[in-house]
Amino acid sequence: MKFGFDIDDTLINLREHAFHIYNKKLNKNVGTDIFLALQTLEIHEAFGLTAEEGFKMWNSLVDEIYYTSCPPIQNSLEALQELDHQGHEIYYITARPKEHGERTKKWMTKQGFPMQEGRFYCGMKDEEKIQIIRKLKLDYYFDDKPAVLETLANEQLKVYVMNQSYNTHVNIPRITSWTELRNIITQ
Ligand SMILES: [Mg+2]
Repeated sequence: MKFGFDIDDTLINLREHAFHIYNKKLNKNVGTDIFLALQTLEIHEAFGLTAEEGFKMWNSLVDEIYYTSCPPIQNSLEALQELDHQGHEIYYITARPKEHGERTKKWMTKQGFPMQEGRFYCGMKDEEKIQIIRKLKLDYYFDDKPAVLETLANEQLKVYVMNQSYNTHVNIPRITSWTELRNIITQ
């Protein structure tokens, strides 16, 4: 079967990683409880930054955020490796900008995520993911972002939301741990 995955905050804990970097750079110590309660995908509010300041902060730190030690979401790596060993096709569909495509692919490979040529897509807008998902005829797709998931409501494939504080209102099947994947695909 064909499985599609968003990367950031679906497979890896990017926001939390960025949150630690923001604390360090701003010389603050905003707590994890605040992070876990955030209702926005963006993290700037927790640091008292405006959207514009947050945007600038993110862009100035993006290399450090993307390519240092961002941890995988627990068990994501093992779950994808298992799919790969079972002979399933794994596709990545990330809205990270095009110029970060090659480095992201390399970084993901280095972390141990199964990667095959031609199965990595990046640089699209949220509402454009659906075109790729249709073209690839995926059987399953996983994402954390409400704006993406909302576009997929009427599609034939099985779509799952990776549980995060800012997507609890999204009313589609939910995955809270990657250990659930094995059961999902045998259903
Ligand atoms: Mg994401």
